[in-house]
Amino acid sequence: MLGDRNLREIIEKTFDRLYQDLNVKVDRANPDRIHAIEAALCTRLAYYERRDPLPVDNATKMSILLSHGMRKALSNVRGEYKADSLALQVDADMVIADEFVVRFEVVPELPEVPHPRHMLYLNACLFALGKQDGMLIYMTGDGKTTEFSITRNNKMFEEIVRRARVLSTLLKENKVPIVEPSDLCTSCKYYSRCYAREKVKEGSGDLLADLFGKLKAK
Ligand code: SF4
Repeated sequence: MLGDRNLREIIEKTFDRLYQDLNVKVDRANPDRIHAIEAALCTRLAYYERRDPLPVDNATKMSILLSHGMRKALSNVRGEYKADSLALQVDADMVIADEFVVRFEVVPELPEVPHPRHMLYLNACLFALGKQDGMLIYMTGDGKTTEFSITRNNKMFEEIVRRARVLSTLLKENKVPIVEPSDLCTSCKYYSRCYAREKVKEGSGDLLADLFGKLKAK
C-alpha cells in the first residue's frame, strides 16, 4: 500500500513531467529560434529560463497546467516567421473560418483594455500565420469572458521582432538583458536577482513615526 508521502511524491513527479513536456515547445538550445511568448513577456525572464532557470513553485506549475489543459482542448496552431537568421515561433489557440486567429488568456479579473504583451503576442501570431485579424479572449476561472479584436499592425510586429533580436543576441553573447520593470515582477521567481531587497529593521511598528523620529533627531 502506498503511504501518503509516496503518493504525494508520485503526484508531484507526474506534474513535473507534464510541466517539462509543456516547455519543449521552446527550443531553448538555439538562440536563433525565439518563441514570441519569450519576446512578448520579459526578455530577462526568458534569458534566465534558458540559461539559469530556477524551479517553478507548485502554485505556478498548477496554474500553467490548467491554462494549458484548456488550450489543449482547442485546435492549437503553430507557426513561424523568418526574419533573416531569426525564427520567431508562435502557438495560437485556434483559427476560425481560416480567417480569425484566436488566443485565450486566463486571468483572475477581466481587464478593461487588452494588455500590451497579449496584443504583441497575438499580433505576432497574425504575421506568422499570414492572417489579418485576431481575437483576444480573456477568461476568468469562473467562466466570465471578454473579447477584443485586433488587426495586424506593422509597428507592433517590428517591436516584437526587435525584442526577439535583442534576446537572441544577448543569449549568444551570454549577457543578461536589462531589468524590465512591469506588473510581472512582483510575482516573478527571479525577483531577487533583479531587485535588491533589504528587510527594514524592527522599530516601533510605525514606519512613518520611526522615519520622522530619525529626521527630528538630526
Ligand atoms: S523580476 Fe521583472 S525584470 Fe526581473 S526577470 Fe522577472 S519580470 Fe523580468
